[in-house]
Amino acid sequence: MNDRTALVTGANKGIGKHIARLLAAGGFTVYVGSRDAERGRRAVAEIGDGALALDLDVTDPRSVAAAAARVDRLDVLVNNAGISVSLDPPQASGVAEFRETFETNVFGVVAVTNAFLPALRRSARPRIVNVSSGTASLAWSTGPNPQFLTGAGGAAAYRSSKAALNALTVLYALTLDGEGFKVNALAPGARATDLTPRAAALGGDPAEGAEGAVRLALLPDDGPTGGFFSWDGTPVPW
Ligand code: NDP
Repeated sequence: MNDRTALVTGANKGIGKHIARLLAAGGFTVYVGSRDAERGRRAVAEIGDGALALDLDVTDPRSVAAAAARVDRLDVLVNNAGISVSLDPPQASGVAEFRETFETNVFGVVAVTNAFLPALRRSARPRIVNVSSGTASLAWSTGPNPQFLTGAGGAAAYRSSKAALNALTVLYALTLDGEGFKVNALAPGARATDLTPRAAALGGDPAEGAEGAVRLALLPDDGPTGGFFSWDGTPVPW
């Protein structure tokens, strides 16, 4: 087993699979989190050396506990698993849409992060990367030219869930600061995946978005914490 270990949630496809592939290529032993065991095994076979399958449904407390029990020390946690169930603005959204979205994008991150904190605390250089979205930026949303595929007030449940994830990023960063952690949020850019098929029109390569997560996973000790960064490293306004 390699010295450095990483866990990427929702790594069986999309941006997460690229993050896992890049970290494995960089010498990490990477736990490829997947809520479906078969899909996880297929991704591990594709990634090859350094990849290990880890059954992990971030919304299922028993799954989270069982996954955490398998990992002794963790250097990098990438909270990547995410869903978007509708593009509705808030007044057309039901509470159920918000609840379902927050269950994965927010509560799932809290559950996974808390469960893996003991393993992260065994790392000399613990890093947490929360895969957020530029559409969660309130500054960009209210700016002069919000060029989002979601439309002005659309995808309310998704965007507010990622804004909550951004808040959690700051709060984890503040409380873990004295322990050497770096906790940052990533806006990977519009990428052609099952979550955002329309991004294909923009030519958004998911591998490029994944590079941003790797940059934040490899931050040096004097790197930033509690920040929000685009895939290319430029800061995103909250
Ligand atoms: P995909 O739909 O391709 O991948 C999402 C991944 O999350 C899948 O592996 C999916 O598993 C997994 N997942 C969903 N729910 C759970 C769960 N309960 N437990 C474990 N895994 C789960 O989307 P992307 O690759 O595009 O998205 C990755 C991240 O990037 C998300 O957080 C998304 O919000 C964010 N993002 C994406 C953008 C884009 O343009 N694509 C832009 C901005 C942010 P399964 O295969 O089983 O469904």
